[in-house]
Amino acid sequence: FITTDPSTHEDNYVSLALDLEETAVQGTPAEGALVLIEMLDHDLVRRIFMGFGGPSTDSLLNGLAGRLRSIIAPNFSLYYVGVGRFVILTDLDDDALSCFLYAVVDAFQQPFDSGNIQVKFEIAIGVLDMAVAVGNPADALRKATVAANECRSHSRVCTVYSAETDAAKIRLYRALLEVAQAISERQFRLVFQPKVDAHGALSGVEALLRWTHPVYGNIAPGEFIPLADDTEIMVDITHWVLREALDALVVLKNSGRHVPMSINVSSRSLKDTQFSTTVALELSRREISPELLIIECTEYSAFRSSQCVATLHRLKTVGVRIALDDFGSGYSNLASLQNIPIDHIKIDKSLIDGAPDTGHCASILVSVIQMCKKLGYRITAEGIESASVLESLRQLDIDEFQGYFISMPVGLDAVCRLPHRLVELE
Ligand code: C2E
Ligand code: MG
Ligand code: MG
Repeated sequence: FITTDPSTHEDNYVSLALDLEETAVQGTPAEGALVLIEMLDHDLVRRIFMGFGGPSTDSLLNGLAGRLRSIIAPNFSLYYVGVGRFVILTDLDDDALSCFLYAVVDAFQQPFDSGNIQVKFEIAIGVLDMAVAVGNPADALRKATVAANECRSHSRVCTVYSAETDAAKIRLYRALLEVAQAISERQFRLVFQPKVDAHGALSGVEALLRWTHPVYGNIAPGEFIPLADDTEIMVDITHWVLREALDALVVLKNSGRHVPMSINVSSRSLKDTQFSTTVALELSRREISPELLIIECTEYSAFRSSQCVATLHRLKTVGVRIALDDFGSGYSNLASLQNIPIDHIKIDKSLIDGAPDTGHCASILVSVIQMCKKLGYRITAEGIESASVLESLRQLDIDEFQGYFISMPVGLDAVCRLPHRLVELE
């Protein structure tokens, strides 16, 4: 086995596995922790390699390893286990470990020299109890990676491995393998959240997905959609949602409610070149007029790739309406809005919550509304939770309101029984 990394001259992954294995075999008390340090932008290493070649990359990696070496005790082991990933085995107790972790974070405050340019790395640290690491050396690096990955979701720099969080994620991945079964066994269902116009009358409904797994219970869309979106499973899910929502639209129409139905569509479905054809087919099968369907997508999914933008244009040709969801929650690139055929803008709860204030947030909200109106978009305010927020929003030029204060998401029967006017707005 080669146990040394040629760029950093540090021990490599094989060496780490052998060392953990040996500690396990010797049965020595496993004190301390396995600390994984990941460069968040490890693509930077690749870019330096492309731009400046091998020697510059090696000099950078040596710099990273050297900086870590300078803060660790001689009896700690340092390993380079993959692009921009280092592991340190320590025997520190909890207090000493937290001091050490501060030192690691500190060590990355200063830029590194690649021989050509100075670069700075953001890091994520995953900490795994040594007893857990030696107990299952083959799985130790995966667990530390799971912990480091938690830093990304919670904007933290360091996370201690949690078996519960890990198990929950694994359950979720397992559940995703059963999506076909979930569809056939009707574990999925849609709920519908009403929207009202400026007079308080029902003006549309948004279909929201619910999944009750027979073993794992309710799984929120915010949990499984981001994972499903990395796989082809998402295409099946969206197709199911589309068919079910259009069936519901027919029921609504028959109950005398001629309001549009919105569905949420993620980037994976927008990348599907067949999606607009599927939509057209499902609409014509039910003789539904296309403008009764609204496709909601976020800026993130709309601009994920040129294929997504192309699909939105094809959907526009089919005649359905396009809504930009969660507007103002991310890094809105106003200039790029003109590249997609938008009809509606849904302003995110984070901006809406500031409506009763007089500060910055309210000013941003007023400006966003003015701009959207100038561009000819219909505006929906989402996430309205209180009478005071609704009251302030009514002073502004907003077309539609949605949120728990107006109605929770409900079953189709409940939508059919809704009064014509949901809230009294004069
Ligand atoms: P979204 O499309 O922005 O939907 C609004 C979410 O906010 C829904 O959560 C809704 O229940 C919740 N909500 C509505 N009013 C309020 C309020 O007043 N206060 C608060 N705090 N929340 C409110 P839900 O159903 O958990 O869905 C979360 C997200 O998951 C959705 O955000 C959407 O991005 C995604 N999603 C839901 N169903 C589907 C689906 O069928 N397909 C896809 N691709 N994504 C879906
Ligand atoms: Mg939505
Ligand atoms: Mg939204």
